Amino acid sequence: MSKRDYYEILGVSKNATEDEIKKAYRKLARQYHPDVNKEPDAEAKFKEVTEAYEVLSDREKRSRYDQFGHADPGGGFGGGFGGGAGDFGGFGDIFDMFFGGGGRQRGPRRGADLQYNMQIEFEEAAKGTEKEIEIPRTEECPTCHGSGAKPGTHPETCSVCRGTGTQEQVISTPLGRMVNRRTCQACGGDGKIVKDPCGQCRGAGTIKVRKKVNVKIPAGVDTGNRIRIAGAGEKGDKGAPPGDLYIVVYVREHEFFERDGEDIFCRMPISFVQAALGDEIEVPTLDGKVKLRIPEGTQTGTSFRLRGKGMPRLNTSYRGDQHVRVVVVTPTDLSERQRELIRQLGDELGVKPSEQHKTFFEKVKDAAKDALNWD
Ligand SMILES: [Zn+2]
Ligand SMILES: [Zn+2]
Repeated sequence: MSKRDYYEILGVSKNATEDEIKKAYRKLARQYHPDVNKEPDAEAKFKEVTEAYEVLSDREKRSRYDQFGHADPGGGFGGGFGGGAGDFGGFGDIFDMFFGGGGRQRGPRRGADLQYNMQIEFEEAAKGTEKEIEIPRTEECPTCHGSGAKPGTHPETCSVCRGTGTQEQVISTPLGRMVNRRTCQACGGDGKIVKDPCGQCRGAGTIKVRKKVNVKIPAGVDTGNRIRIAGAGEKGDKGAPPGDLYIVVYVREHEFFERDGEDIFCRMPISFVQAALGDEIEVPTLDGKVKLRIPEGTQTGTSFRLRGKGMPRLNTSYRGDQHVRVVVVTPTDLSERQRELIRQLGDELGVKPSEQHKTFFEKVKDAAKDALNWD
C-alpha cells in the first residue's frame, strides 16, 4: 500500500503541536478545496489532507498512528475517505483495503459513510445556518424489494454453485492435487440467478435516489470542521445500521475580514488629519457598524481591539475579538493651495524641505555623526 505519511501530507514535523497541525491543515484545505481549486487532482489532495488531519488532530488516533502506521485495525473510522465520484466518497473501499476481507466479521454489513463538501459564507459561519442538501444514496428497490427479480418471479438458486456462491476446482500441481476455491462465475457469488430482472433496478435490487437532508451548521464553524449526521449515510444490509453522513465545511474568504480561530482582523484607512487630531470612525463588524475612537497622534499600523466582536467559539456563548488596524493614507493629487498649506505646516513643525529629501539611511548617518561628534 503506497499511502503517504500523514505528517508529510500536512508538511509538519512528527512532534508538531496541535496548533501547528491545525494551521497546516487549514492552509492546505483552503488550497485544495474542490469548490475553489479546479485542478483535476484537487479533490484527491483535499481528501488526502482531510484524512491526515482527521487522524493527527485526534490525540488517541494520532498516538495509534505513531505506533502502528496506516495499517492499524483498531483505528476504527480513522481510515478516512474512499475515492468516490463527485462530492461523495464511500468509506467502504477503505475498509476493504484495510481489512482485506479476512479480518472483517461475517454477517450483515453496516452501510457506508458518505462525505459531502459544503461551502458557506463567512457570515453564515459566524451566525450559524441551516441548509437543505441532496445526497445520492443507494436504497432498496421498491418494486422488487431488493430481490432484483421481476414482481411475481423469484431469483433461482444458481445451478453452478448450488447456491454457495463459490466454485471448487480440483487442479493437479507438481505437489499433488489441490482444491482451488473461487467466486462463482455464473452468479458472481450471490448464489442466486435472476432470470427475469426487475424493470426498475434492472436486477440490481437497489436504486440510486437523491435524498434531501436538513443540515444545521453551528455558529463558529471553520474550514475543515466536520459535522456528523448519524444514520444519514448509505443503508446497511438487512439487520445492520446505516452509515453516517459527514459534512465537511469550507468557509469562503471574506473581502473585509480575515479570521484566525475566534479572532477576526480588518484594516481601516484613515486620513493623516484624523490620525493627527483624533476622530471617531465607523467600523463594520459582524453585528453591524460600531463607532471606534481614534486618539490624537495615532500612528499608522496601530491596532485597536473590539472585544467580543469576533467569531463565536463552537457550542459556547464565548466570542473572540475583532482587531482593527488603522492605515494612514497619504493624500495624493494635491492642488497647489493644498501643497502650500502642507509646506506651511512643515515649516511650522520645523521640518525643513531639504531634510525631507534625505533618505532614511542618510538620516541614520547624521544621527550617528551627531552622537560621535564627527565632522
Ligand atoms: Zn427492482
Ligand atoms: Zn453460482
